[in-house]
Amino acid sequence: MDRYVCDACGWVYDPAVGVPEQGIEPGIPFDELPDDFECPECAAGKDEFSKEEWTSPGAAGDEKL
Ligand SMILES: [Zn+2]
Repeated sequence: MDRYVCDACGWVYDPAVGVPEQGIEPGIPFDELPDDFECPECAAGKDEFSKEEWTSPGAAGDEKL
C-alpha cells in the first residue's frame, strides 16, 4: 500500500501503522480514510497529502541505464 505525505508538515501516513490516536487501525489505504481525516501534526485535510515518491537508489524495477 502507498504511503502519503502531508505537504504542510511532512508527516507520513503509513497504512501499515494507521493512526491509533485517531482510531484508525492498521491496514486502511489512504483512499479509504474518512473525508474528515486530518493530519495529526498540523490538522491539514486529505487534499493536502501527496503520494510518497520512492526514490531510494538500488530499488528494483525502475532502473535507468
Ligand atoms: Zn501535516
